[in-house]
Amino acid sequence: MNVETREKLYEGKAKIVYATDQPGVIIQYFKDDATAFNALKRGTIVGKGVVNNRMSAALFERLARAGVPTHYLGTLSDREMLCRRLQIIKIEAIVRNIVAGSLAKRTGLEEGTPIKAPVVELYYKSDPLGDPMLNDDHVRMLKLATPAELAWIKRMALKINGVLRPHLKKRGLLLVDFKLEFGRSGKKLYLGDEISPDTCRLWDVTTREKLDKDRFRRDLGGIEEAYQEVYRRLVGEQRA
Ligand code: UDP
Repeated sequence: MNVETREKLYEGKAKIVYATDQPGVIIQYFKDDATAFNALKRGTIVGKGVVNNRMSAALFERLARAGVPTHYLGTLSDREMLCRRLQIIKIEAIVRNIVAGSLAKRTGLEEGTPIKAPVVELYYKSDPLGDPMLNDDHVRMLKLATPAELAWIKRMALKINGVLRPHLKKRGLLLVDFKLEFGRSGKKLYLGDEISPDTCRLWDVTTREKLDKDRFRRDLGGIEEAYQEVYRRLVGEQRA
């Protein structure tokens, strides 16, 4: 693809976003830097950027085939993804199939408890506030999204879960929970950001071994190996 990188637009915890010579088109550059607990814990996961870039590309392509509009336009290199430029909606939508993390803490349910119908949660994407949970009324009060946009986001989050869950299961991965971000371009909404072991909880189907960022958050060791294993299952042996 013939695209020139221009100025840095934004540098986040795990990615850098660059403008390009094409209007409305940006490059996401995936770093190996890892943070957790609102950046209180910092580290490096060697090779993570490549895994997250390639895995996100594979899953965005799968979702596009299922009719989910995504910002993905193409892969430029191991760490660079070409994307449609979005005005990001400041909501993190989390979908849960199995109790883990903050849901276990909040409810007292044991981690690993199956959830009959997936749970969708909304969080305010705000580093200074530490991403607090929101309900629909808060979204309206803060004017983060219109009611129609919010309804679309929730519907799309469940649709994405319906596509990714069986896709990952076939490759030996349980999709425990994951985080999505959406954005506007013109009058349309698109799925943005990334879908990776940084933003999903993935457990081995048989052993229930954690193959995601919880290995970093909880100092479980074998972090790089877990990311490489996910890569091997989802990208290394890409199947239709
Ligand atoms: N998550 C994320 N970014 C965040 C918060 C959560 O990608 O800022 C993902 C996380 O990796 C997990 C899911 O969303 O797959 C649910 O996270 P949870 O609410 O349990 O919070 P955590 O235990 O990660 O603090």
